[in-house]
Amino acid sequence: MVTLMFYDGTVDAESDVLRTGGVPLAPADFQWPTCAECEGALQFIAHLPIEAGVVSVFMCQNDPGLCDEWEAFKGGNQAYLFTDRNLAPATVPNEGMTQLGAVSRLRPEAIDVDEYFEALSAWEGTGRERTVLGQLGGKPAWIQADQTPSCPGCGTAMTLTAQLEEGYEDDTSGNFGGGGLAYIFHCVDCVKAAFLWQQ
Ligand SMILES: [Zn+2]
Ligand SMILES: [Zn+2]
Repeated sequence: MVTLMFYDGTVDAESDVLRTGGVPLAPADFQWPTCAECEGALQFIAHLPIEAGVVSVFMCQNDPGLCDEWEAFKGGNQAYLFTDRNLAPATVPNEGMTQLGAVSRLRPEAIDVDEYFEALSAWEGTGRERTVLGQLGGKPAWIQADQTPSCPGCGTAMTLTAQLEEGYEDDTSGNFGGGGLAYIFHCVDCVKAAFLWQQ
């Protein structure tokens, strides 16, 4: 069984639902992350409510391709697990590429297949594959080699939070290298999250 996430139109920018784009919901002391390489403000990618809290994902888009933004833990991206449910919309910085061009709601739906790519190929040519924006939990479907990160807190393999396609429309999507897939992981015990992408 794979839980796919389907494009479900747009939604309020500050809503507490599975979505890409919009404004992050964060704790009161949250500081918008900056890039370790170019020092610009990161772009908010996704708001992912899960049982343990909310996973929030950011990536540098100030100098695409130059900030190691595809690698976990290098500082060109950031992912957080907020376990405090008392979250409020963060203040978006005035400068930098901080937001996607659109807010996209993601609707989870369990599909009776063994793995992600199998579901996609079953719909090839039907148009439905274009509305699949990733999967929620489950096993990562890698384009390249398995890059499951080890948790920086406890050293064990992190759990897949979600896997994301770039987006529904090219001009409002995340930039995962052009046709890439992004992978978000977390560790509940250590309250940590990680982000990376492959193409
Ligand atoms: Zn950067
Ligand atoms: Zn851990």
